[in-house]
Formats: sequence, C-alpha cells, structure tokens
Amino acid sequence: MNNLELIPVWFIALYVGLFGLCVGSFLNVVALRGLSGENMVFERSKCPKCQNQLKWYMNIPLLSYIFLRGKCAFCKTKISFQYPLVEFICASMFLLSYFAFGLSLKALFLCIIFALFIAMSTTDFLETVIIDYHAYILLGVSLLYSYLNLGDVNIIQALIGAGFGFLVFEVLARLGYLFAGCRMFGEGDSLIALGLGAIFGWKGLIIVIALSILIQTFSVIPILIYQSFKENKKALCVSYILVFFSIILLFLMNHFQFIKNDVTYTILTIFVAILLLWALKNILAEIRNKKLDETKEGEEKFCLMPFGPALLISATICIFYVAQIKSYILNFFS
Ligand SMILES: [Zn+2]
Repeated sequence: MNNLELIPVWFIALYVGLFGLCVGSFLNVVALRGLSGENMVFERSKCPKCQNQLKWYMNIPLLSYIFLRGKCAFCKTKISFQYPLVEFICASMFLLSYFAFGLSLKALFLCIIFALFIAMSTTDFLETVIIDYHAYILLGVSLLYSYLNLGDVNIIQALIGAGFGFLVFEVLARLGYLFAGCRMFGEGDSLIALGLGAIFGWKGLIIVIALSILIQTFSVIPILIYQSFKENKKALCVSYILVFFSIILLFLMNHFQFIKNDVTYTILTIFVAILLLWALKNILAEIRNKKLDETKEGEEKFCLMPFGPALLISATICIFYVAQIKSYILNFFS
C-alpha cells in the first residue's frame, strides 16, 4: 500500500490550497514587478503608496487582506482587490488540478501552467501587456508537458501546434491592417497561442480559439454596448447590439433544427447578414477614429479589447473538458 493513501484527502487538499495561496501571492509580485521591470524576488514587499516595508504578518495571503480590511496598515491606502483575487484563483486552480488528477506529475505540471496563465492574465488585465518571458516559459513548460506524454498530444503534435497557433494569430492580427489600419490583437496573443498550441496540438487549439471567441463576445460586447451608450454614439451602440444578438441567433438557429432547411431560415440569414455588414461598417469606422486619436499620442496600439484573458480562460476550461466541447462543436456544424 502506498504511504500517501494513509493521509486523508482533506488534509492533502488543505496543504495544496495553502500552497496555491502562497504561489498566488508570489504571482501578484511577478505580475507587478514584471510590468515595472523591478527586481523580481529579492526585494521585500513595500506599500506602493507610502513605501513602508511590510511586516511578515501583513504579507499572509488572503488573511492579511481580510484582517487589514483591504487597507495599508501604515497609511490606510486601499489595497487593490487584485491581490486577494489572484491568490484565491490560484488556490482554486491548484485544488481543481489535485481533485482531477491526484498527487501526480500531470497535476504538478498543470499547476505550473495555471500559475503562468494567471500571471499573464493579470498583466493583460492591468496594462494590456503580455510579458515576453512569461510566454516563453509557458512554451517551454508546455513542450515538456507534451514530451512527457502528460497531455493529449505527443511532442511532434505539440511542435506543429505551437507553430500553427503563432501563424494563425499573426495572420489574423495582420488582417486588421487591411480593414482598420492596425493589428487586430497585440503580439502577446500570438505568443500565448504558441504555448497553447504546444499543450493542445493544432486540432485542440482550434477548439480553444472557438470557445475563447464565445467568451470574448459575451464578456466584452456588453461593455462596448454600455460605453457607446454612455458616449451617446447611437449607431455604434446599435451595431454592437446587432453583433451580440446575431451570435445568439446563430446558436438558436442551430439549436432548434426546425428552423433549418426552411425558407424562413434563408430569408432570416440574408436579413441578418445585411444588418451585420452595416454594423461592421460602423465598428470599423470607430476603430479607425480611435486609431487616429492614439497615433496623435504617439502610441502604437491594437484595436480590439485584450484577447489574452479570454484565450487563457478558454484554455483552462479545455484542459478539463476538451472532449465534451469538441463533440458539442462537431454536433453544432453537422
Ligand atoms: Zn501604505
């Protein structure tokens, strides 16, 4: 009998969770100091406002935030909610990996991969930046993961997947120059796709991308609708609403088979397509305007909202459910 089997599951889970909290706390530092270019590990934590060095008991993941009621003990400045959130998410992902795959090499690798996902999402959310070496570490870990046959693909498929992911995103990003005069995504998204391709292979990556577009649509478009409504850009607001509802319509039409192969289906499709063209025209015009504003500030930026977090959330879901999502998509288009 294995010695580990004598230890109760809840006891191991407690340690995995606590370890996840500590790693999450470290990831906050990795993300922030990565953005500011400071020394990563060897400096002690300071309050960003009053520069006082934190005592050890002010630095305990999650608990310190609760005891200090979200404020710095010295200057009472509010501590960003990012800190406990990242710690909590990291602990949850470590626990999920443990419950799904036990104390195994696979679970360990998944914890490292999820930690990198969290660091990259954090920098992308904060400043729409993916730090290059985060992406390269992900690529290295992913290739090793596939080389050790821990995932669904072997090392050859992983290498092909990485190349495929990078190429697809670079081509899509550069298509933006044709239509809107700027990249559709930042370079960071191509780098993420490089690493994800090495985990999923090119077939799996297509599923990850499909799911991420869905996640992006349902999270970003409502924000865009709200923003354009507030700025009183009526045509733009209606355009975003149209895009949002035509995607829902696409789902309904495929879900309810009776609409398919029908005259109503054809007429409806043509009608929606015309509306969508009008909407796209408005959205592209808005992107061009924004692009002009930004070049005035001398800043080269991409036109869409950060796509990285949606891609990474999708990848996280796919690590656990890629087979189920694949069969759903296959049914969808059959
Ligand atoms: Zn302070």
